[in-house]
Amino acid sequence: MKRPAAVNFDETPFIVIWETTQACDLACVHCRAKAQPNASPDQLTTAEGFALIDRIAAMGTPILVLSGGDPLSRPDLPELIRHGKARGLRMATIPAATPRLTAEAVHTLKAAGLDQMALSLDASTAEAHDRFRGVPGAFEKTMAAAAWAHKVELPLQINTVMTAQNIDDIDRLVALVGQLGIVFWEVFFLVPVGRGVCVTGLTAQQYEGVFAKLYAAERSVPFIIKVTEGLHYRRFRVQQAMAQHDASKSAEPRWGEHGPGGSIGVAPQTVNAGKGHLFISHTGEVFPSGFLPLSAGTIRETDLARLYRTAPLFRALRNPNALKGRCGRCEFRSLCGGSRSRAYAMAGDYLAEDPCCGYQPVGR
Ligand code: SF4
Ligand code: SF4
Repeated sequence: MKRPAAVNFDETPFIVIWETTQACDLACVHCRAKAQPNASPDQLTTAEGFALIDRIAAMGTPILVLSGGDPLSRPDLPELIRHGKARGLRMATIPAATPRLTAEAVHTLKAAGLDQMALSLDASTAEAHDRFRGVPGAFEKTMAAAAWAHKVELPLQINTVMTAQNIDDIDRLVALVGQLGIVFWEVFFLVPVGRGVCVTGLTAQQYEGVFAKLYAAERSVPFIIKVTEGLHYRRFRVQQAMAQHDASKSAEPRWGEHGPGGSIGVAPQTVNAGKGHLFISHTGEVFPSGFLPLSAGTIRETDLARLYRTAPLFRALRNPNALKGRCGRCEFRSLCGGSRSRAYAMAGDYLAEDPCCGYQPVGR
């Protein structure tokens, strides 16, 4: 396993997510972007996209994810992937399970140089998944797309959003995901933004229960399990390692820069909103995360690197000593730091404690 050199997150994001469009034909109940069928006339053009990719590469960022909306609704998606590859970026995308997602489309993405394709899967049954995604047939399409990815040897990622709706399905989900031949499972925990304000998230206690399932799965599956917007999974892992008196089972991820099959790996240090992580909206606004709707400015007016490195919002997010409440007193604040997006969504303060972590800092 090749471990990445530490990235200086004050200078360089480890991963950039570009929301290429907000157009999407699905109607997911939790959609952060409140995606709808038509693209905004103000979304970044192909030329602006190329210039953006150049700036991301110049910052030294290794990974660019083309997200949406449905990135497949942009006819220039293969061109954008090719441009990113030519600039040395590792490129990923997450197409929506709509009629645009075909065997031919997957082949085209692979031929353009795509490194990894992610598909969403939120339940172990078609009925429950389609209800979550708002369109019948989404589950079936996802299963077909997984097979098409394998056919062209395109590393496959599954994304799952954990909510109160699917928590009872977690064991079956772990089993199903394990059968899909994936290289990467990204488990998101709901942040109540966009349409997600109408969905019920997990309690702090339920988080610990899901963490335990993921921790157990991580020990045996041949793929990366990455938790997103559940930062306190890092604290959980350390506690488990300490409880088992096994220093080899630390909070450090099992995989490095390259995951199984040469797929996209994980960062060498904690990535959090604005700290190794950057989100660019479909119109070029720069956010610390897609789940934290506070803009530092727009790439149409200010250089991307300048915004990331110097905006007060980003600088505060990279300072663990600026955190408040239990997160501010917590001995895990550098390793974890809590979900800044959830703190903002639920407490109105992006530096407040993560309301979905039940941990009481030791002796403080
Ligand atoms: S597939 Fe993604 S962009 Fe489309 S509605 Fe669902 S969450 Fe939103
Ligand atoms: S209190 Fe905050 S920093 Fe500490 S483990 Fe919980 S979320 Fe992480």
